[in-house]
Amino acid sequence: MTHTISSVETATAALQQSLGGRIGSFMDGRVHTGSGDELSLTLAATGETFARFADAGADGAEAVITSAVRGAQTWRNVGAFERARILRAVAVAVEAHAEELAFLESATTGKAIRDARVEVAKVVEMFGYYSGWADKIMGQTIPVPGNWHTYTEREPYGVIVAITPWNAPVFTAGWNSAAPLAAGNAVILKPSEFTPLSTVRLAQIAHDAGLPDGVFNVAVGAGATVGSALTTDERVGKVSFIGSVPTGRRVSVATAQAGIPTVLELGGKSANIVFADADLDRAADGAISAIFSGAGQSCVAGSRLLVQREIRDAFIERVAERAGKLRLGDPLDATTEVGPIITRPQFETVQSLISTGVADGARRVTADQLPESIAGSHLAGGNWVLPTLLDGVRQGDTLETTEVFGPVVGADTFDTEEEAIARANGTRFGLAGAVWTENVSRAHFVARSVRAGTFWINAYKTIHVAVPFGGFGDSGHGRSSGPGFIEEYTQPKAVWVPTQATGAPFPSLSY
Ligand code: NAD
Repeated sequence: MTHTISSVETATAALQQSLGGRIGSFMDGRVHTGSGDELSLTLAATGETFARFADAGADGAEAVITSAVRGAQTWRNVGAFERARILRAVAVAVEAHAEELAFLESATTGKAIRDARVEVAKVVEMFGYYSGWADKIMGQTIPVPGNWHTYTEREPYGVIVAITPWNAPVFTAGWNSAAPLAAGNAVILKPSEFTPLSTVRLAQIAHDAGLPDGVFNVAVGAGATVGSALTTDERVGKVSFIGSVPTGRRVSVATAQAGIPTVLELGGKSANIVFADADLDRAADGAISAIFSGAGQSCVAGSRLLVQREIRDAFIERVAERAGKLRLGDPLDATTEVGPIITRPQFETVQSLISTGVADGARRVTADQLPESIAGSHLAGGNWVLPTLLDGVRQGDTLETTEVFGPVVGADTFDTEEEAIARANGTRFGLAGAVWTENVSRAHFVARSVRAGTFWINAYKTIHVAVPFGGFGDSGHGRSSGPGFIEEYTQPKAVWVPTQATGAPFPSLSY
């Protein structure tokens, strides 16, 4: 790869190299340009527009669903071992295109390439893992009174719609396609209108690796047009939504009215709790990675730092010092640790929430002037937010309960275990959290007491496709990853067969 500088030329070259310059929905094995409103794609690192494309619109969404209905029929009749073989081939193909996908993602969204590489590697892992499940989806034989052979089979839903956010486009595309495909469903991905490219390319790669036409589809466009058409069509078997709480609620209402079951993976406001007996250097490294990796645009970000009073000054100083050394820079530079905020509206939201935090009385501990390498370079017009530590975010403050979704952590102190737990549980979210302590009993007590779908002890942000992931409360419901994700995408069917012609009389039940 020769391109190293984020620019319109680089993004255009990445788009040309990967998709031949064509942006559109992927169905029936090829890219179809839409006929709806024009949308533009902007470079987060520079603020420049590099491409325009047409929203698929409601008509485009309808065509994609029709293609997926045909694909679902084909795919459910492909034998389980053949499905497993094809999905293994998809994993191999994604791995073979890993650098291309990471480059496309970084060059066109501004995501730091080191993060993009990790996320593409996770997609390979996802297809590898779920290819292993495709031929191990089993029902049960169930003993019942009388002469009956009674068993269950797990059937796919048919068409799964997965709506994904902009912060991790290729990662969430892989995450929400590998399991449903393994379970025998066709998928339609609806990527964010801000970041559709890597999802379209992933679909193309998966198709070329052997997925039949109509099995892996992508509908590009806005939520109000394409998203709402996909979530109200009764031919859709299930919707998986990853995004913000307000949109998740809107989608839930729409799918409930259409009778479509829905999985929600929403936002978070996760607490990272540091006790005085913790290994403070490790905890400080963990706190940095918890909030600043991905420039804080992460649902599980450790955006609330709760520090036991006696170590407060020493710990805040350690975190601030490390935050000050993080390298902001060109997303395509492999040494860049913190990239820009991927969308302009989100950049504005983050800036405004920092101002609110300061107005509410928190003290900004970290620098607030962009380095000359950004402010004085071609990156000056990008969506840059410095890693920000605000100390003194109190219970009841906006920053305590509002997801920032940027590189901003609010810190406060606590005295007792009970206080830390109550504080951690003091929001409506329940996605993740962590505790740092050398006391084993306390670690497990806190882990059990904090209401969160994922919790780390002396660690942060490790996730794996084999381990269930999801939220409590406002963070959503349903679990992705792990063996349970297969159950999420299949339904049990019970089959009864009498084993004697003169079997028990048919009972009269008015159930
Ligand atoms: P968003 O809710 O604005 O949009 C998400 C998706 O929904 C986009 O594709 C958008 O086009 C679509 N959409 C918008 N309106 C719609 C409608 N009426 N019908 C159907 N679809 C519609 O979220 P975002 O700003 O793109 O992403 C950031 C959010 O995602 C954060 O809150 C973050 O925490 C969350 N997130 C959660 C997870 C998780 O696993 N829990 C993972 C990543 C991101």
